[in-house]
Amino acid sequence: MITNQELANIIFPDVKTTLEDLEKRYPLRQLPAGAEVTRFAPSPTGFLHTGSLFTSMICRKVATQTHGVFYVRLEDTDTKREIQGSGEQLLDQLSLFNVTPDEGYLGDHQKGNYGPYVQSERADIYRIAIKHLIEIGRAYPCFCSPEELNEIRTKQEAAKLVPGYYGQFAKCRFLTNDEKATRILAGQPFVVRYKSNGNHARKIRVTDLVRGTFEIAENDQDVVIYKSDGLPTYHFAHVVDDHFMRTTTVIRGEEWIPSLPIHLDLFQAMEWQPPFYAHLPVIQKLDENGNKRKLSKRLDSEAAVSYFLQDGYPSEALIMYLMTIANSNFEEWIFQQKFDRMEDFAFTFSKMSLDGALFDLGKLNFFAREILSKKNKDEIYAMVTTYAKVYQPKLLEVVYRDPNYFKEIMNIEREKENPRKDYEKFGNLLDSISFFYDDFYEDIIKEKLPFSDRFSPELISSVLSKIKEELSLNQDEQSWFGQMKEIGESLRFAPNGKLFKNNPDQYNGSVADIAEMLRITLTGKKNSPNLYYVMKVLGKARCDKRIESVISSF
Ligand code: GLU
Repeated sequence: MITNQELANIIFPDVKTTLEDLEKRYPLRQLPAGAEVTRFAPSPTGFLHTGSLFTSMICRKVATQTHGVFYVRLEDTDTKREIQGSGEQLLDQLSLFNVTPDEGYLGDHQKGNYGPYVQSERADIYRIAIKHLIEIGRAYPCFCSPEELNEIRTKQEAAKLVPGYYGQFAKCRFLTNDEKATRILAGQPFVVRYKSNGNHARKIRVTDLVRGTFEIAENDQDVVIYKSDGLPTYHFAHVVDDHFMRTTTVIRGEEWIPSLPIHLDLFQAMEWQPPFYAHLPVIQKLDENGNKRKLSKRLDSEAAVSYFLQDGYPSEALIMYLMTIANSNFEEWIFQQKFDRMEDFAFTFSKMSLDGALFDLGKLNFFAREILSKKNKDEIYAMVTTYAKVYQPKLLEVVYRDPNYFKEIMNIEREKENPRKDYEKFGNLLDSISFFYDDFYEDIIKEKLPFSDRFSPELISSVLSKIKEELSLNQDEQSWFGQMKEIGESLRFAPNGKLFKNNPDQYNGSVADIAEMLRITLTGKKNSPNLYYVMKVLGKARCDKRIESVISSF
């Protein structure tokens, strides 16, 4: 009769390395006490999900805080889902958010002593571990066809039993080693299944860093650990990799909680100490009917990190926003820090809320405005050109026409105590500032200008002419506005809104009305940055020309 050892040799004749050899190849890490080793383990599906950025940001933070290690492992064993080149893209995108790994798969190369960090390059390692499980009788080849598996499922459904390959339903468990060997030697295709000793009627107590201790049904499924393509399944690869890469803390999405009993069962069979687990809440969104649902790759543009990059959000804003989801005390803390030195924040799993956070674009916009308002004009210039080079060639062309002019535009009410918070992203920047450029301005005034119909074109013309002749820009804002009031009064516009309101028969309107006429004339819009500074940036000659062309268009 064929022994387990012989069966293992028939399945993996060329595997000579042992688990002991691997233990030596990947020694325990020499790190300070309390240091945590975390990892981000993306599948190369061509897409960095906002939830994955959230996870990897926390992995990075935990490793940094504890003087540990954060590494990236590419989980590419599901070859059907793989998109070529997307691993590099993931790394590039992470680095834009300052989530940079200390070791692991780094896009164009790998770094570190615990590799390879790409699962498809680790086939040998998994085979060593699987051979071991077969030798100790805790794994076996399974020859069931999809039809046979279907048949089992149908029986279970009819009998209202837990579905799956377990216990008495695990047909191939009951084959003798001789039968298994004969079929393998005859070239029958097979997978390898784990042989569980569990019972789903029993509960195990598990501890999660986010959720604390809870009970969950024990695993009894003989899950597939080795596929017919020679690669392991996620369940087994996770156990082997996190053991030999010496991960201390597995941080992953809560969708993995149902699989946790399988993973703990596998760790036990391998006689390895499992890592700590932190299952993070998923980021959700309210649907049209007011129900919460997971941010969906298919339905929600906010599900892809690339959406925020394309729209030109400052990356710090998204990270800051995600940290408000991560820790309930962060928001108050970052307000106190005036939105600076985020790296000093002390993250803790215990302050993570359990109900999946709702994605709040308004809050992201708020952070983005705060962050951009604190940048000086040179920083803004650098950020805008970096963005425009990749995403908006038209914006880049406009900025490059005259970098100093662009900086002056962006510097309106910036670099001061209470800077204006009018920009949140660069995707719509060109729209907001295009009026500063004559070619765009000419297009804008081809449309009907939004002057109030309370005023005749004649009255608007006389206000504009007088402003053109008299209003000086060589004075400070206060006296400039004083002069506007004088000009207004000479044409029967009250120096303030209240006076006009109380005496509507005596006035045409108030100074606010003439400021609006001027604003619309110079910018084509009812809203713009501070008019005094807009005029200073445009310069007297350009302002005069614009006034003339609006008057002549009436
Ligand atoms: N590759 C898995 C995923 O894409 C990783 C899960 C984990 O972090 O263990 O979800």
